[in-house]
Amino acid sequence: MDLIDRLVSICGRENVLSTPEELIVFEYDAGFDRRPPSAVVVPGSADEVGAVVRAARDAGVAVVPRGAGTGLAGGTIACGDAIVVSTSRLRRIIAIDPQSRAALVEPGVVNLDLQEAVRPHGLFFAPDPSSQRCSTIGGNIGTNAGGPHALRYGSVVDHVLGVEMVLADGTVATFGGRAVDLPGYDAVPLIVGSEGTLGIVTKAWLRLLPLPEHVHTFLALFPDIATGAQAASAIIGAGIVPAAMEMIDRVTIQALNAAFDAHLPQEAGSLLLVEVEGLVEECTDEVARIERICADAGGFGTRSAKTAEERDRLWKARKLGYTALARIKPNNYLHDAVVPRTKVPEVLAAVNAIAERYGYVTANMFHIGDGNLHPILLFDARTDPIERVMQASAEILKVAVDAGGMLSGEHGIGLEKDHFMPWVFAPEDLDAMRRARDAFDPDGRMNPGKILPGAGGCSDIPTDRIKRALAEGMWV
Ligand SMILES: Cc1cc2nc3c(=O)[nH]c(=O)nc-3n(C[C@H](O)[C@H](O)[C@H](O)COP(=O)(O)OP(=O)(O)OC[C@H]3O[C@@H](n4cnc5c(N)ncnc54)[C@H](O)[C@@H]3O)c2cc1C
Repeated sequence: MDLIDRLVSICGRENVLSTPEELIVFEYDAGFDRRPPSAVVVPGSADEVGAVVRAARDAGVAVVPRGAGTGLAGGTIACGDAIVVSTSRLRRIIAIDPQSRAALVEPGVVNLDLQEAVRPHGLFFAPDPSSQRCSTIGGNIGTNAGGPHALRYGSVVDHVLGVEMVLADGTVATFGGRAVDLPGYDAVPLIVGSEGTLGIVTKAWLRLLPLPEHVHTFLALFPDIATGAQAASAIIGAGIVPAAMEMIDRVTIQALNAAFDAHLPQEAGSLLLVEVEGLVEECTDEVARIERICADAGGFGTRSAKTAEERDRLWKARKLGYTALARIKPNNYLHDAVVPRTKVPEVLAAVNAIAERYGYVTANMFHIGDGNLHPILLFDARTDPIERVMQASAEILKVAVDAGGMLSGEHGIGLEKDHFMPWVFAPEDLDAMRRARDAFDPDGRMNPGKILPGAGGCSDIPTDRIKRALAEGMWV
């Protein structure tokens, strides 16, 4: 039996896609690289995932887990003749346990669906990536997603108690569980953020938190991005850690107002969207302190959300910002460097200088509180050569690394930045990571070509070749 027939016998004809037309939507995610898989299979249970992985192993074919495909680092692109395993039928919220504040879910559950399911219990799942309307818990675990509230609550790794995972040989293993501390090696933090290279997560026990008593959300207005960035640095420097603190620049404000009638203050050169939460008295005191710091840094006023609807509208605007930018140019490259918070103003200035030199418009909308920069280069792929865009991007990455930053704050390394890993890790570091990966997947069949440089058969992807050349050429 060939592989496709075997996949059909496991999951049913309607859950195996293999014609070129069916595969088109699986040849890309929200990143840059494109390449069709040899087939896509959509299992309906962990047992079916196990059987699929065994069938692929017997055929000598690699597997790539895929959630919603909103990843920005090419983590779901199939290298070589790999097949994609989609989790879109694994979307049950199996249990919500308000007493122990935990939920057991399948990986295809959409982040926002989980939030809505736990809210009536007075609980929330802290990781809230801006893609939460469509991104899945499996993808959030795969990338160790962050989001606006990571500033106060940390990223996904801080909220996963345990996972069930199909290993490279098709067996199903469990790591961690509902209890907070378990004996033995704690593999959960290694699995979270492993981008599908260690196995396919088929269930996850998630930590839930009680909804705060009070939330205060407001905008602080600044004449330009530099003063906004300085204010954000000063807020953190004063020992205040808001629940969230997001920077939105003029380009994005204007795009949001034009696209969605977002009613953001048009006169601002930049905004900080700040949220504080806790007891009412704590919030009042914290807001007053933040307002003073913003005024001292050159801000010209604040606007508070007065109702839950107004608060939702502000967050909706923030989370639709990326979409709104399509009004300016049809394509964009969203970066994800993270730098020490105090370096944000100088790195932003350097990024804007690079973009200006190349003649690209940039938009900035990012989690400034934790130093996670997302400069977005806007371009038109019909007329702007992709090599140039990537060259500018590599320069931006270099500025961030030279400032003591990291390659990724939350989107992961995937296929996008594997070649850049030697910029920040010594050969010994990379070898140790490779050995950890080999312990789970000695034959390199789980999502090959991701995270670690120099493997996986992705060199036929033109954008991958460009990145490799840039990474090697710019390293001194
Ligand atoms: C508009 C927009 C806004 C975004 N905002 C944020 C943000 O605020 N914060 C943030 O961190 N990211 C953000 N992202 C990036 C992206 O949404 C996240 O990385 C998200 O976690 C990906 O989820 P997904 O379901 O789309 O996963 P996919 O893109 O399908 O997969 C992502 C990675 O996880 C692996 N994976 C998927 N499912 C599993 C599984 N079951 N087991 C093992 N590995 C698996 C894949 O192989 C891949 O490597 C944004 C993206 C967009 C387009």
